[in-house]
Amino acid sequence: MGGMIRIRAEALREFVREIFVASGIGREEAQQIAHYLVAANLAGHDSHGVIRVPLYVRWKNEGVVIAGRSAETIVNLPAIAVVDGHFGFGQTIAPQAVRIGINKCRANGVAVVALRNCGHIGRVGDWAEMATAENLACVHFVNAAGSVLVAPFGAIERRLSTAPFCVGVPRRSQPPVILDFATSMVAEGKVLVASRGGKQLPKGALIGPNGQLSEDWALLYGPHTADGLRDHSMGKGAIRTFGDHKGSGLALICELLGGALTGNGTTKPNRRFSNGMLSVYIDPEQIEPERLFDGEVAQYLSFVKSARPAADTAEVLTPGEPEERCRLERASGGIALAPDEWAAICTTARALAISEATISKVSAG
Ligand code: NAD
Repeated sequence: MGGMIRIRAEALREFVREIFVASGIGREEAQQIAHYLVAANLAGHDSHGVIRVPLYVRWKNEGVVIAGRSAETIVNLPAIAVVDGHFGFGQTIAPQAVRIGINKCRANGVAVVALRNCGHIGRVGDWAEMATAENLACVHFVNAAGSVLVAPFGAIERRLSTAPFCVGVPRRSQPPVILDFATSMVAEGKVLVASRGGKQLPKGALIGPNGQLSEDWALLYGPHTADGLRDHSMGKGAIRTFGDHKGSGLALICELLGGALTGNGTTKPNRRFSNGMLSVYIDPEQIEPERLFDGEVAQYLSFVKSARPAADTAEVLTPGEPEERCRLERASGGIALAPDEWAAICTTARALAISEATISKVSAG
């Protein structure tokens, strides 16, 4: 895409950290938030990367999300934990909740962790990767309460959040299988990316107030300026769910398990944003002592990948492969940001008195 600004991951991470520090977040926490945002860019999910900086700073200023919070375990059974994030940053709270799940799963072979009241947890695949790195399988049902964005199947009005669903399958000496997607046709962040001059939306991703299918992001955000904040309550349309009734059904389940069962609460208008996440962790080693799982997974993945590709497809990929490849490419080639996205981040930096010299140094590479 023309006019893109390419920045190396390390420089971008430092810059974003400094913005968060200037906004009043402690250095260590700021570093961790910056780490996960840039990790999403590296994985190819720009929708959950540094494009979120202006919104995170706004949320912090408005008290929607609070720095310096820790996860509190409010129910602690051998294989179950209920964890309250107290509206702390998702990048701070989620890894603490996942760590609790990993420890309980190690001890019991299986564990369920219900996380509530958590600030935006970003790319859910990060949390699955944390568990698969310790050879555990996991399933995550997530809701994004407060973000009423998605029309249920058959409707033209918003009722659901983009409610992501994620599964991680560990592999020995190989990257894990990570299936991680919003149950909406696109994550909200993809609409945000399109609105900032990035990748355009797929056909019919949105539905307008009269039931017309559309790719016009203004249906979600309403009137706007190029580098201004986006407010999804201003739009009159909705994002559609993927896979007709199937995606819509899975979104509903994410609301019921990730929202209602965790105590986070389901998605409703006029409520504070928080992610709820119901996570199930499974230790394969304690299920199949014959240790056939890894070999069977490897064999099946190569069987799947050996299918003859369709005309428009160079290679059949399995979940997690696109992210893995993107990481390799962007780790060396840098991260490309659309001009409007970069402008919005710089506007936020300037408002926090970060110097022009610092800003131009980052974009100069
Ligand atoms: P997406 O449509 O890009 O799908 C990603 C998934 O599909 C990955 O598992 C990927 O490996 C797999 N995939 C992609 N291309 C493939 C191919 N050609 N062959 C095989 N597999 C392929 O993802 P999305 O729906 O846009 O979601 C993006 C991110 O947004 C996710 O990381 C999700 O967790 C995150 N999200 C977070 C929230 C939140 O509230 N925190 C809400 C919604 C989405």
